[in-house]
Amino acid sequence: MKTLTLLGSTGSIGTSTLDVVRHRRDEFSVYALVAGSNLDLLVDQIREFSPALAVVADAKLCDELARKLHAAGLPLPELAHGAAGRLAAAIAPEVDIVMSAIVGVAGLEATYEAVRRRKIIGLANKEVLVASGQLVMAACREAGTEMIPVDSEHNGAHQCLRAGRRDEVTKLILTASGGPFRRTPAAELAQVTVAQALNHPTWKMGQRITIDSATMMNKGFEVIEACWLFDFPPAEVEVVVHPQSSIHAMVEYNDGSVIAQVSATDMRMPIQYALTYPARASAPVPRMDWKTARTWEFEPPDLDRFPLLALAYAAQTAGGSATCTLNAADEVAVEAFLAGRISFPGIARIVRETLEKVPNRTPRSVEEVLEIDRASRQMARALLG
Ligand code: NAD
Ligand code: MG
Repeated sequence: MKTLTLLGSTGSIGTSTLDVVRHRRDEFSVYALVAGSNLDLLVDQIREFSPALAVVADAKLCDELARKLHAAGLPLPELAHGAAGRLAAAIAPEVDIVMSAIVGVAGLEATYEAVRRRKIIGLANKEVLVASGQLVMAACREAGTEMIPVDSEHNGAHQCLRAGRRDEVTKLILTASGGPFRRTPAAELAQVTVAQALNHPTWKMGQRITIDSATMMNKGFEVIEACWLFDFPPAEVEVVVHPQSSIHAMVEYNDGSVIAQVSATDMRMPIQYALTYPARASAPVPRMDWKTARTWEFEPPDLDRFPLLALAYAAQTAGGSATCTLNAADEVAVEAFLAGRISFPGIARIVRETLEKVPNRTPRSVEEVLEIDRASRQMARALLG
């Protein structure tokens, strides 16, 4: 029996993770459920999975959770909140696996410390590597831990990389759906609405990543994530738009052979892969239907209409804290777009201007990363006016 802490249990990845656990109750038990503010769903999850510890974003929510559990007649698990609670859940000695599925840098410290405690990490929270790839990968090397990627492209790449040796690989190719505006002319992007941007063609995900998919910032983050996870320079990580999202990643070997990973657009597959790795097991996901005729398309990304993808390559090439600033500025800009304060192209403008204004330096600790994150957010907010 493996024991699991789930950081971000009420989110899209969190609920899919619990569905995988639901199908494998004899293999996995839940030690801690960590969430933000969705208390009603958390109460349901506590009822079903009986964790020893439940963590929410702040003290007020923690009191409210206790009241709700009491009213529901449920026995109280240990309750905690905030950064200290997230950390306690991630590093408890009882825990074998940490599924890192909080959105944004709120999950960074807990994930980093879990790596240092040699936990098995299922990594969905890509902002951990975007903001702090250098430090987190150094901690992995030092602890001798491997993070198993849950992000579908990286999970696909992880599978493709098992086909040969790292020094035989010449290129990593990440696919992108192209998002809802793949065919929208540049001149019309200023008019797109929040509802249109939230309408992702192939995946159902949290709001931040859905908007990031529409701008292709998400693909930029994934290029950065891939560089750190698999030790590639940005020039060897290519992006191809593949609207059907059936192929998730490809790896080109030195003899010209390309290995691709194909599966349905269902995150329970990569989540389960991370939980059972290196073994595979039957998963509750749809199969590819090869009896129906289908067409797969591929096209290069349009960097003029989606400048955030180019900015991500530039930030990873620059190194230091540029990618931390990229993530922080994007989070502020996405919030402003969702609140109707800026237009869709305004997201890229705020990110570019923030990157120009915040000095690049090399963070030596996670605290420094979080300091740079705060300073970058502040600058992005000031630029919003
Ligand atoms: P989501 O918004 O649906 O869920 C986020 C989770 O984090 C929620 O449980 C929320 O309560 C929790 N959370 C947020 N702030 C918190 C805080 N301060 N303290 C504790 N918990 C907090 O997001 P998601 O779509 O599940 O994505 C989670 C992560 O996985 C993101 O980094 C995203 O980029 C990545 N990811 C998601 C998908 C997907 O299919 N959804 C695919 C690949 C990667
Ligand atoms: Mg992805």
